[in-house]
Amino acid sequence: MVKLYNADRFDRLPDAILFDTDNTLYPYDPAHTAAQSAVRDKVVKTFSIKPEEFDAAFKGARQQIKARLQHTASSHSRLLYMQRMLEIMGLGSQVLLALDFEQTYWRTFLSNAILFNQVKDLLDDIRLLGIPTAIVTDLTAQIQFRKVVYFGLDHHFDYIVTSEEAGFDKPHEAPFLIALEKMRPAGDLIWMIGDNPVNDIQGGREKIKAVTLQKLHEGVSLGEGPCAPDASFVDFGALRQLLGKLAERK
Ligand SMILES: [Mg+2]
Repeated sequence: MVKLYNADRFDRLPDAILFDTDNTLYPYDPAHTAAQSAVRDKVVKTFSIKPEEFDAAFKGARQQIKARLQHTASSHSRLLYMQRMLEIMGLGSQVLLALDFEQTYWRTFLSNAILFNQVKDLLDDIRLLGIPTAIVTDLTAQIQFRKVVYFGLDHHFDYIVTSEEAGFDKPHEAPFLIALEKMRPAGDLIWMIGDNPVNDIQGGREKIKAVTLQKLHEGVSLGEGPCAPDASFVDFGALRQLLGKLAERK
């Protein structure tokens, strides 16, 4: 069931629906954990170092890149993390290895990323109802496009906006506004569906007055206060039911 906290905001079908991707359409943690450990194994083997040495160098690299590039798509770049890690290890930039480790990360990530049940059915329902959709996601276009194609979702969304394209990560207004600019919805009832209480829920509500729906599962806690969503759900099947009910009211 979809839990409605502000039931009055769900009196009709939305004019457009925005979706976060990572940890909303699929669980992020299992994919990331598998990917990170594949990279660790490879680096440890390549340089005959201890796993702890990898962990320390990688952690330092990630912190430095994030501090320098905060709130931008490239602050999440695995390629930059690998490059900086190699530099911290005293090996110089080692571009070929950086590329190789990045590929290992994303290859392993994708093969361990599994869409939540009924995501595709939901998107089919939305298409039949004639409601425009867009992905609004942080990170660089290259990998986010690859994920969408990997999941077979490239024909399920009308538009995609990445934070690389927008210049800023959510909850900055830019990605939300660019999505609406592209979609030109017929009315102002916009749904924002995402897992992150700050980036998706608070951002969606404050920046574009969206009706916010939080996807909950293990490791995600319900937003509170300024991050409280208008609704929450665990199963995409429940969201399909809600849309079905709203469609009947038409
Ligand atoms: Mg997310």
